[in-house]
Amino acid sequence: PVARFFDLIVIGDGEEVLLKICKAVREAKAAGIHKKESILRELAKVEGIYVPSLKQEKVKKALVKDIDQYPFPDSQVVPFTEIVHDRLSIEIFRGCGRGCRFCQAGFIYRPIRERSPDSILEKAIMGLKKTGYEEISLLSLSSGDYSCIDILIKRLMDIVEDKKVALSLPSLRIDSMNPLIVEQIKRVRKTGFTLAPEAGNEALRRVINKDISDEEILRTSKLVYESGWNLIKLYFMVGLPTEKEKDVADIAKLSREVLKCSGKGGRRRNKLNISVATFVPKSHTPFMWEEQISVEEAKEKIFSIKDALKGSAIKVKWNDPELSWLEGIFSRGDRRLCDVIVSAWNMGARFDSWSEHFNKQIWEKAFYENGIDPSEYLKRRSIEQKLPWDHIDAGVKKEFLLAELKKALRGELTEDCRKKCNNCGVCNKKVKPVLWKDLPISRIEIEKKKENQSPAKRYRMIYTKIDVAKFLSQLEVMRAIARALRRADIDLVYSQGFHPVPKISFSHALPVGVESVYEVMDVQVKGELDQVYAKSKINRELPRGIRILSIYEVPKKSRISPRESHYLVVVKEGAVDQSLLKRFEEQKEFYIKKRGKEVDLRKIVKSISIETDERINIVVRHIPGSEVKVLDIVKKILNLKDEDIIKIIRMRQVI
Ligand code: SF4
Repeated sequence: PVARFFDLIVIGDGEEVLLKICKAVREAKAAGIHKKESILRELAKVEGIYVPSLKQEKVKKALVKDIDQYPFPDSQVVPFTEIVHDRLSIEIFRGCGRGCRFCQAGFIYRPIRERSPDSILEKAIMGLKKTGYEEISLLSLSSGDYSCIDILIKRLMDIVEDKKVALSLPSLRIDSMNPLIVEQIKRVRKTGFTLAPEAGNEALRRVINKDISDEEILRTSKLVYESGWNLIKLYFMVGLPTEKEKDVADIAKLSREVLKCSGKGGRRRNKLNISVATFVPKSHTPFMWEEQISVEEAKEKIFSIKDALKGSAIKVKWNDPELSWLEGIFSRGDRRLCDVIVSAWNMGARFDSWSEHFNKQIWEKAFYENGIDPSEYLKRRSIEQKLPWDHIDAGVKKEFLLAELKKALRGELTEDCRKKCNNCGVCNKKVKPVLWKDLPISRIEIEKKKENQSPAKRYRMIYTKIDVAKFLSQLEVMRAIARALRRADIDLVYSQGFHPVPKISFSHALPVGVESVYEVMDVQVKGELDQVYAKSKINRELPRGIRILSIYEVPKKSRISPRESHYLVVVKEGAVDQSLLKRFEEQKEFYIKKRGKEVDLRKIVKSISIETDERINIVVRHIPGSEVKVLDIVKKILNLKDEDIIKIIRMRQVI
């Protein structure tokens, strides 16, 4: 469906192909070939490159046999504002042998290729050092399946625990969980725990080749709740092949059973969220011939689950079936859909996977304009029919997928190919699964630093927040500083409990957009800090605009209690009316409304003076419960508009 928009698309693993693309383009240019079509024709000869404008009979996916040859990057971009996956991510293996029949990734990334434990540990440790992240995520399609996961995460946590780094294994299969894994993950921080039964009973799970019993689900849930997590999220799908009314009802039934595992009837502290999605058949899977249920049917099923759980403590969330409708059309779409995309875009369709931006009517109109019946794409496909993706060879044989479909309809399981090869067609003499069954003695463990047992000391740091850093919120500044301190290898003291955080306290928060040359924070560290050395080390790690100006030790019990802040307000020339300032000074009371409450500015403003036509100096007292933004104070007293104010800088704080 997107063929027309791309010159070329890499099918499969990108690592080696990218280099080949660069080489081919460079060589073509050196040989005087500049026409795009000619270069594309050359590139189409490279395995894994699909050039939609050419008629390629088959495009075989590119496959990196040993992913350890391409070490995972440990220098990752660390954003200052919060992002969705705000943590260090390390890919631990590619591919999956489970063969869940609905899962496209499980088929197209075959075979399993694990990174060596040593390379994972090395990248994890280096990555944490370089990024300062407080959480690490071991990525793969099913992280609990890594051949020696128990030992790997134990060793990793042994090394990083004193830095209070939390571990997350985002895709844990229920049957790969064991007390040891749970024990390791909970060592630092417990985030919500997600489990994906996908179907409400064992019979339907056999259809999708997810060999997990209800008993296993309940046992794992109990283990998770008992280990201290108070939120479990369960993922389910409706509309799976062969699904009956009872299967949908069993989703609610199983959810209730899971909540019971939380003890005390699940009504007190422990929570259960379930998320229900509509099954979308995907290309290159055994279910690629199956039909997708209609939006109405999906809604009916989802609401029946919601109704069945009414009054329980279980929160039901669902993916918008209308979005799944669109996803389903494009998942098994063909080139005719390119025109639909263009039409919808012209009508204003943008960011459609965000439900608040999704407008089904636009898409319906786009299909209509192009003479396309979208429901055709959601129907069952005949086995004989040529499929739009037949020329894309992901390695798994079509006959294997068909055999899997037949087994699904009979409710038969296929074993994980970690245990037994099922001859799906991917492996050959040169390509084989790469599994690290035993963890070799790791030199990395030896490098573990001895924990610093020195008593905690408190250091006060004065820093700036200027330039682009003024756009960071207080929370973002706190996070960026904490990460910089970790990168600078400062031995921080952490709080106790389930969510250990570094003991750093800040002075009065600065509003976004206001600069400062005098911000204050207290950092507790283990032992003595070489103040000059630490300052330069930390400054090297801080974002632009944030600079430590001085560091000095303060008594451990001292607190930052700002009494007043001195600001310089720069305004447009001629914007200030001096008489208004006089009027303010003459009045005994001068009120401003703040969140429905009247606050007397005469009490808050210690002094205000006009230095020049464009510069105002103002000293604001910090009175708990009566805090007002300096911007609002200046605007109110001098009757200024937002556009009159050029910048505000905090020059000093009295603490
Ligand atoms: S050929 Fe065998 S081992 Fe290789 S991916 Fe397929 S099923 Fe797994």
